[in-house]
Amino acid sequence: MTSAPARGKKQIPIEEGLFISLPQEGVRLCASTCRWCGETVFPKRDVCPHCFAPGMEEALLGPKGRIYTYTVVWQAPVGFLGPLPYALAVVEFPQRVLVTSLMAQDTPLDSLRIGQEVELALEKVTENEVGDEIVAYMFRPTLQEVRNL
Ligand SMILES: [Zn+2]
Repeated sequence: MTSAPARGKKQIPIEEGLFISLPQEGVRLCASTCRWCGETVFPKRDVCPHCFAPGMEEALLGPKGRIYTYTVVWQAPVGFLGPLPYALAVVEFPQRVLVTSLMAQDTPLDSLRIGQEVELALEKVTENEVGDEIVAYMFRPTLQEVRNL
């Protein structure tokens, strides 16, 4: 689910066309599916990278997927501004698409496991000059998965 920004502040995507946030359905990634071979790719493209056919149809991934693999990062790469340590996960969506992103900052790192159900969430990365939140998609364990721990 989307975390609400502070009153009066807007949430601005870190990159246009990468994801959308739907009020009832949560965060979805903007992908595309090939009309010829049926492969789905993220981010969306105009030409299929598998069969090189033009004519990709828009498709949405999420909001839920499962952890395909993950790692915990203890040393920040150059330019990383978030807290350490953090988890980086590769998540598989039902369309058989693998997407790599950070786990949300409040994720208990010792609870992560392969196969775990996660959902897309938006999290603030930084602020712009007028205080609006620049947000990116991340993964968060679903409530059901948290209860089962
Ligand atoms: Zn194709």
